[in-house]
Amino acid sequence: MSTAGAASQSQTGWNFDNSYLKLPDIFYQRLPPVAVRAPQLVLFNHILAEQLGLKSLDLNTPQGAEVFAGNVLPPGSTPLAQAYAGHQFGGFTMLGDGRAILLGEQVTPSGERVDIQLKGSGQTPFSRRGDGRAALGPMLREYLISEAMSALGIPTNRSLAVVMTGEPVRRETPLPGAILTRVAASHLRVGTFEYANWRGTTADVRTLADYAIQRHYPEAAEQDNPYLALLEAVIDRQAELVAQWLLVGFIHGVMNTDNCFIAGETIDYGPCAFMDAYDPATVFSSIDHQGRYAYANQPPITQWNLTRLAEALLPLLAEEQTTAIDLAQQSLESFTDKFRRVWLRGMRGKLGLQDEQEKDVALIDDLLAIMQRSGADYTNSFRNLANEQSKDDELQRDAAFQEWDKRWRKRVEQQGQPFNTVKKIMDRHNPAAIPRNHRVEEALAAAEKDGNLQPFENLLRILTRPYADLTDADNQYREPPPPTQRVFQTFCGT
Ligand code: AMP
Ligand code: MG
Repeated sequence: MSTAGAASQSQTGWNFDNSYLKLPDIFYQRLPPVAVRAPQLVLFNHILAEQLGLKSLDLNTPQGAEVFAGNVLPPGSTPLAQAYAGHQFGGFTMLGDGRAILLGEQVTPSGERVDIQLKGSGQTPFSRRGDGRAALGPMLREYLISEAMSALGIPTNRSLAVVMTGEPVRRETPLPGAILTRVAASHLRVGTFEYANWRGTTADVRTLADYAIQRHYPEAAEQDNPYLALLEAVIDRQAELVAQWLLVGFIHGVMNTDNCFIAGETIDYGPCAFMDAYDPATVFSSIDHQGRYAYANQPPITQWNLTRLAEALLPLLAEEQTTAIDLAQQSLESFTDKFRRVWLRGMRGKLGLQDEQEKDVALIDDLLAIMQRSGADYTNSFRNLANEQSKDDELQRDAAFQEWDKRWRKRVEQQGQPFNTVKKIMDRHNPAAIPRNHRVEEALAAAEKDGNLQPFENLLRILTRPYADLTDADNQYREPPPPTQRVFQTFCGT
């Protein structure tokens, strides 16, 4: 095994350099994944493997399955479980990787550093009462939706592989067990800082902050107050992320601080869902009884999560606590404007507007109000604005919409561009294909119950080109669910 800092490249392309080991002991426990009985590769992401510098020929094999199952460690791996805490639905808890093992940090041919993590890899000291395992359905779900998000252009962790373990996991019923190989810019969370502040010393918080700066925000190190610059950089990234979620109708569903990442990637695809009919109050997660993580509540909740980060960083921001609090508050207050700016820019893109006029805000708000009242499909309504309108688009028949449409067309004409140019811009902002819940469930049910991966593969193919026009044969993937297939609730699936 290589030691921290000493990278060595293997034939297969493994090129680990495990900087997390340099953090103080309180931040992790070293231990290998727990071996499984009969690993079988179900999904392998060739394109991602190539970007990581890994050879598909070596890994899309039974030997690769052993690696992605945790039975064989890749050269240079120094497996560990990370310690962290988090606010879950508002309450503080000690957490940590209870069913995940970080194999190490792969340095890619382009010089990027990414975590390679196995999820569902067995018990760790942080498992509490859990079995450390994961079921096939939720791991396929994470693979599908994380890859769909990536194709939509939204920062996210990626999925490299799914293996079946050959062992059942016991949930409400026995289910096939599986392990997902997750690739992330890092697994540093707001909850990692909360943990450092709660369990460690100020020196530990500073060490962690220095690590985060070095790994994700090196420009912050040059600032007068690097820790304030770190906080502001995370606020920027998170404001941008949540704006992007809203623009595509994404509802994360479990925005606990342990799922709020310092690098600004989307993480945790447990109960997430895309909205069909536009309604800002939409909630899918079965455990979100208060609507804490409802669609429109996501920006204020992100700000709430960032406030927990600011609290953990307070001792580093200034010597005087009152000064530190003032600085943190000023930064946190900038969140709303930052979010709003990115969201407005995105909405203008969705409407094909390239210059900025003050009345655009009313144009956007009025459209959303009409969509909400008429229960219009969020994704299709935007995509259809500039496209051949389908006869059965419910929005197009609405009298208020027709008035709005005139206003919008007049506004677009003022730009003096051919409509086709505008349409091209709009098509890059308005996906045709999103992971509709009924399609996702259908694909997962076929895989889990019948061992049939074809519906999953078909859906994945569509979702990895979300902005392209669909062929007639594939057009069914754009359709909202018929009443009998509407999904009202999603489950964490742990
Ligand atoms: P998640 O819902 O995946 O974000 O997990 C939240 C916390 O619960 C993390 O600390 C996980 O490691 C832990 N956890 C979730 N499922 C399991 C499981 N089956 N066994 C052990 N720990 C788990
Ligand atoms: Mg999580």
